[in-house]
Amino acid sequence: MYPSSLEELIESFKYLPGIGEKTAERMAFAIMDMDEEKIDQFSDSLKKVKETIHRCPKCNSLTDKEECIICSDKSRDNKTLCVVEDPKSVFLFEKLALFKGKYHVLNGLISPLDGVNPDDIDLDKLIDRVKNEEFKEIILAFKPSIEGETTSLYISRMLKDYDVVVSKIAHGVPLGADIDYVDSLTLELALENRKKIVSNN
Ligand SMILES: [Zn+2]
Repeated sequence: MYPSSLEELIESFKYLPGIGEKTAERMAFAIMDMDEEKIDQFSDSLKKVKETIHRCPKCNSLTDKEECIICSDKSRDNKTLCVVEDPKSVFLFEKLALFKGKYHVLNGLISPLDGVNPDDIDLDKLIDRVKNEEFKEIILAFKPSIEGETTSLYISRMLKDYDVVVSKIAHGVPLGADIDYVDSLTLELALENRKKIVSNN
């Protein structure tokens, strides 16, 4: 029913998470009300984000530099490593300014039911970093879920012969909640109340 280019724009918005038909339509109409300059800026930023953003070779987070600003920041605590599921979690922790150590992004959690096995996430690089860097504590910060628990258990077994303390953030949030939507106080308490699950030193 819409002219084809408008229909195409609506379909494009529907690629985004949580955007259904109605919202996509509203967004497409908002675009048509924008002036030329804003539209250029909008479409350029879409292209640019894909061209310039890549994974940090060290921690797997997203960056437009050779190495991300967290890895290259010498003032950060290089004795504590926070292991997270995806880059979104890094930005969330940073936004809340709760943590001053380094990060490692796994790119997923172990989930045999979904066909995600330990080999499918970046555990090799994690082990390399534990071997080669000076971490004293590894904090596992996953969402409270079966996958999060499975991954925590796997990593704690994997690291049990290394000279590091492995801890896990406490969960004051309901099982199944998405870590992105946890309020900052809950996350702060969870980080403060983390539990040691392997303690070799
Ligand atoms: Zn990095």
